[in-house]
Amino acid sequence: MSAPQVKGWCPGAFRPMMSGDGLVVRVRPPLGEVSADQATGLADLAERHGSGVIEATARANLQLRGVTEAAYPALMRDLRALALLGDADSEARRNLVLDPFHAPGTQLIARGLLGGLSSDEFSALPGKFGFVIDPGTPRRLAGISGDIRIEGAAEGMILRADGCASGRLVADAEEAVALALDLARWFLSSGGVGVDGRGRMARHLDSGHALPDALTGDVKPTAVAPEPQPGPQGTGVCVAAGFGQFTADALRTLAVCGDVIRVTPYRMLYLPTVRILPDHPDLILDPQDPLRRVQACTGMPGCPQATVTTRDLARRLAPRIPEGHHWHVSGCAKGCAYPRGADLTVVGRNGAFDLVKQGTPWDDPIRRGLSPSEIDTEIRP
Ligand code: SF4
Repeated sequence: MSAPQVKGWCPGAFRPMMSGDGLVVRVRPPLGEVSADQATGLADLAERHGSGVIEATARANLQLRGVTEAAYPALMRDLRALALLGDADSEARRNLVLDPFHAPGTQLIARGLLGGLSSDEFSALPGKFGFVIDPGTPRRLAGISGDIRIEGAAEGMILRADGCASGRLVADAEEAVALALDLARWFLSSGGVGVDGRGRMARHLDSGHALPDALTGDVKPTAVAPEPQPGPQGTGVCVAAGFGQFTADALRTLAVCGDVIRVTPYRMLYLPTVRILPDHPDLILDPQDPLRRVQACTGMPGCPQATVTTRDLARRLAPRIPEGHHWHVSGCAKGCAYPRGADLTVVGRNGAFDLVKQGTPWDDPIRRGLSPSEIDTEIRP
């Protein structure tokens, strides 16, 4: 099977993506969090202008689906009124993922980067070029893609270019911001961006471009924390929803409970000042919930590239997934919902399903062309 095709840009509020069920409008919450009022407002907008669902994405953004072209201008107006939109240029560059548990320095670094990146000198950075702010020990965001990484290390905090195994120590948040911006400048000036406007740090380094001494080091990042699960975490509580889709009603419920809601890259929300949440049919607080063991992308009809429906099959398979295992139902070989290996991956192709064991959606399958009922037979509990 061939590798997935990758677009060089991510859909944003100013550059929505047309999907099979309407526009996908992605909101990048400033500093990775929304206030209770903003969350309630988003829930209202999802119902008024979209499908009524708010999706938490793997880059800690929130997106509305099913927005018609006619409703789009009003949605943008309403998002601006909620203070959830910047200007188009800086919005595109605001590709930051923050440690949702806010290890010391996280917010300071994020504010510094947001300020620096608003300068026009960074306007040529590719849409997918991102920053990861993960200064704690152990690291929380090791599995999250990012070209410039500020990470925890046994000796303190490091700046690391993606593609390098180690980085250089930085004294504090201020130096981390200054050097991260220097690294972005070097990427631009050394030809990291291709004529098509795309470019990633690891690929740039791989092609033989050597970092300046001031931006390299031999300090390894610290160990990696296990991925957080729903339930109490740190000072607050993590809450999930099936396939990262929060209904408007569920989001309103959360907004009543906490004054701040952080968006995590684990397709969960984190309420840092709340320990207990009320039961809600659309919210998952139990780490053992079977839906936590399966990922599924939008599939048909929402995604034009899909030839199969996905989430109905994933819901059906979920109770059969052994504890500790992870399965993935992907509408095609691109693997948007979980672009990495799973214990079992079910991949849509030409209206049927292929099965991949211990691999990614683009790996060679062990079975091809199965119908949903043949999948049931193939996958016995
Ligand atoms: S993986 Fe799913 S959402 Fe992504 S392009 Fe394929 S069908 Fe669409």
